[in-house]
Amino acid sequence: MADIDAVVAGAGIWGCVVARRLAEKGRKVLLIDKRSFIGGNVRCEIDDETNIEIHLYGSHIFHTKIPKVWEFANRFTSFNSYHHKVLAAYKGKMYFLPIGLALINKFFSREMGPQEAEEFMKDTGNQQALFDAFFRGYTSKQWGRAPEEIDSSIISRLPVRRNWNIDYFSDPWQGIPLEGYNEFFRRIVDHPLIMLKLDTSLVLEAGLFKAGGEILPRVPIYSSAPIDALFANKFGALPWRSLRFEQEKLPVRDWQGTSVVNYTEGDIPYTRIHEFKHYHPEDERAFNCPKTIIMREYPKSWQMGDEPYYPIDDASSRELVALYRKEKEKYPLLHIGGRLGAYKYFDMDRSIEAALDLDIE
Ligand SMILES: Cc1cc2nc3c(=O)[nH]c(=O)nc-3n(C[C@H](O)[C@H](O)[C@H](O)COP(=O)(O)OP(=O)(O)OC[C@H]3O[C@@H](n4cnc5c(N)ncnc54)[C@H](O)[C@@H]3O)c2cc1C
Repeated sequence: MADIDAVVAGAGIWGCVVARRLAEKGRKVLLIDKRSFIGGNVRCEIDDETNIEIHLYGSHIFHTKIPKVWEFANRFTSFNSYHHKVLAAYKGKMYFLPIGLALINKFFSREMGPQEAEEFMKDTGNQQALFDAFFRGYTSKQWGRAPEEIDSSIISRLPVRRNWNIDYFSDPWQGIPLEGYNEFFRRIVDHPLIMLKLDTSLVLEAGLFKAGGEILPRVPIYSSAPIDALFANKFGALPWRSLRFEQEKLPVRDWQGTSVVNYTEGDIPYTRIHEFKHYHPEDERAFNCPKTIIMREYPKSWQMGDEPYYPIDDASSRELVALYRKEKEKYPLLHIGGRLGAYKYFDMDRSIEAALDLDIE
């Protein structure tokens, strides 16, 4: 360990990209992760029987409008031409999200064009009806709040498309890595100057950084570990919203006909059902297999030890983050990033962008 030039803690997307950049600058890097795999929450598993790629922490679709991110990602993988569509199930009917002409016309049983729909949607009663059907119940489940507490003032700010485009994302570049996410990550960290150590946590004890029980040499440390846990929660734990997933293999070729369906009614306990084979229509073995794999997503409150998914951005968490950031200043060799270090939700492309923009020593 003595001859390393840098340590990267956390082999999620942020950590893998930082490790790669360091290695390409000629630095000898120790990349550690407390889990037994790389990729963080983008980790997948291939089901042997069906060849279906299961996204263990919920569906991950790569999408970006940032040229340098797309260019970086394409050095390590090609993407298929998957374009994400999200259906919403409400009272037994299916609608395309986000709100656009397809959803508005079906919901209100109309045949409006762009101008007419724009006028129609200025009516607050119409806005309210859409909010109640597609956002109130879903948001209350997602954040564990009573439907009455969901602030309907966001109605007028709901993004409304004035066309028939049913793509969920408007980014020009979208897709799923052709050989899978795990292979994408394996290639990013496949560099002779990157030494990978799994099941190894970064810890701070008595002012010293350690990994696997050993004191780390005085080299720059790039950490995407949770900022509160890194400092032993000394100011208190930051709050998160968590999720629980339930997987099921079914003896049918296609169960819901699409990759993701949102269940927007508040009394259905799950928020989404994922059906993974739809992410790889080019994979004939998985796509045409007479079996399929679905996963129900249930939001849940977070307790210490649960997987953190969504940061809860409020005044008290912002105050705590500020305290931890101040604490970090005592350690000039420590650089913090990633979703857990920044206590921010990032899409994958924003994590890559942050890692590419980071000042590297
Ligand atoms: C349900 C869900 C769906 C999503 N879907 C999409 C999507 O469709 N498209 C998209 O672009 N983005 C999506 N995202 C966002 C995406 O998951 C994140 O952008 C990405 O995981 C961020 O990577 P990261 O490296 O910051 O964090 P992580 O992937 O969490 O990596 C952090 C790593 O640090 C490790 N670690 C923690 N503590 C320590 C320690 N002390 N020592 C060593 N290692 C440690 C962890 O094990 C983990 O591997 C989704 C997020 C969620 C919650």
